[in-house]
Amino acid sequence: MSGAIQLVWLKRDLRLLDHAPLARAAKRGPVVLLYVHEPSLLTSPEHDPSHLDFVSAGLTELDAAMRARGHRLVVRHGEFPDVLERLQQEIPFEHLWSHEETGNRLTYDRDLRVGRWCKHRQLPWTELPQTGVARPHRSREGWAQRWTARMRAPIVPVPETLPVPAWPAGFDFGHGIDRAALAVPASDKVEAVAGGEAAALATLDSFLQRRGVNYRADMSSPVEGWQGCSRLSPYIAWGHISMRTVYQRQARRFEQLRGRPVSREPVDPRWKASLESFESRLRWHCHFMQKLEDQPSIEYVNMHRGYDGLREEDPGRWSAQQRAHFRAWCEGMTGYPLVDAVMRALHRGGWINFRMRAMVVSFASYHLWLHWRPCAVALARHFLDFEPGIHFSQFQMQAGTTGINSIRIYNPIKQAEDQDPHGTFIRRYVPELADVPIEYLAEPHKMSPMLQREVGCIIGADYPAPVVDHGLAYRTAKAKMFRWRQKTGLREEARQVMRRHGSRKRPPLRRA
Ligand SMILES: Cc1cc2nc3c(=O)[nH]c(=O)nc-3n(C[C@H](O)[C@H](O)[C@H](O)COP(=O)(O)OP(=O)(O)OC[C@H]3O[C@@H](n4cnc5c(N)ncnc54)[C@H](O)[C@@H]3O)c2cc1C
Repeated sequence: MSGAIQLVWLKRDLRLLDHAPLARAAKRGPVVLLYVHEPSLLTSPEHDPSHLDFVSAGLTELDAAMRARGHRLVVRHGEFPDVLERLQQEIPFEHLWSHEETGNRLTYDRDLRVGRWCKHRQLPWTELPQTGVARPHRSREGWAQRWTARMRAPIVPVPETLPVPAWPAGFDFGHGIDRAALAVPASDKVEAVAGGEAAALATLDSFLQRRGVNYRADMSSPVEGWQGCSRLSPYIAWGHISMRTVYQRQARRFEQLRGRPVSREPVDPRWKASLESFESRLRWHCHFMQKLEDQPSIEYVNMHRGYDGLREEDPGRWSAQQRAHFRAWCEGMTGYPLVDAVMRALHRGGWINFRMRAMVVSFASYHLWLHWRPCAVALARHFLDFEPGIHFSQFQMQAGTTGINSIRIYNPIKQAEDQDPHGTFIRRYVPELADVPIEYLAEPHKMSPMLQREVGCIIGADYPAPVVDHGLAYRTAKAKMFRWRQKTGLREEARQVMRRHGSRKRPPLRRA
């Protein structure tokens, strides 16, 4: 041990288990564990107060864990590299440690500033991977195999001892959130889950032991998916649990179920398919993030530039009708009950299952013909699990601007009938429709005026009429996409996109 102070910069990794930078730093010398609230991130259009609440819960738990070890967490408020410069004067450190981050332009530029500062100070900065995203990354060939190898690598245990530095007299550890100073109002997401490593591990455990049994069948429904999906995404996105921990615990559970002696209670056969689907999605997480890692511009521009001009990107140039449609979509007032229920559920809790995310993005992109970029920013705020790499890649995929994915236009009426057949979800989040008979719930505007009065829901007054006609909007969008795809030169660029981002062979067999 060198005795020189090691600064561990916490980013999206608020946990003690499987934290390689912390473990490596603790072997070198006394550790200062730092988290920084950055005004530029807190005031960015993608940020929501619920994100701060989630992070704060993680910080509180981490600080308690540090105190139990006779240590403390250090929290600062400011921009990089100024924060580092000031801290260096207070408690000189010799090495900076962190995880690699595949973030948006703001965090990418901030990391460049930190890199320059470290170079200027001649201070080493070690960044270690925490997901399956490869850096540097030269080719997609063999990517899935490398991902699996990384997931199977040993989990880094919580360090037994964390060497404590000699804190200077009067050193400010800087705890508690001052929302006024951070300029972040209180969150209105009353149904958002709480953050923290313990909650992450408990959520994983309940999924693997009980909730996940019918995952494959439940995942598309906003009703069954509520319990049947893992609900791990915010914990993974903010690093309150590592992807490797999730992967290895599900693999262990798979083995356990497979090896259960015949004399014991029989294993529900649905587990196998469910855990296999779950494992694929863990890989997708990193597969999508790799796209942003390899091509950071997809945060702003079409993955396939041949789709530039397909839709108007600048909201300042939108027609009054487009602006009204965007507002109706954001507020859950489109007159399509399932779309509205999903948007309002996001306002309240910040989570919805994959199929419903894809459906509302399809509705915005095709029925309303809105550019993905302003919609992606609006939903990033509402997603408690906002993960830039997945978010922007998925938005582009659902909006049809990658050039390599088939066009999928969801029918919001059919989705309501298939995925919410009893209307439980719609009635919960669109209370105006509480007494609408089930046969009209997907299309309440079809109720007769007399029935509208009877059930206390006048269309156009209590609940909006559909902002567009589904059939017409669907046919128009399909025709526009078809015409656009006939343009010359699109195929060659699509091949390049495929070479750069497309998934290749399947990963090795689970038990290979
Ligand atoms: C337009 C759009 C935007 C999205 N934005 C995000 C985002 O910002 N952050 C985010 O974590 N997910 C995003 N997703 C992917 C997916 O919808 C969520 O990961 C999933 O619904 C989270 O719920 P869960 O944790 O219960 O997932 P589960 O179904 O239990 O899956 C387990 C984990 O696998 C990963 N995963 C699951 N599905 C996908 C997928 N299709 N693509 C990539 N990773 C996946 C997630 O980490 C998830 O936590 C987006 C999907 C769409 C269509």
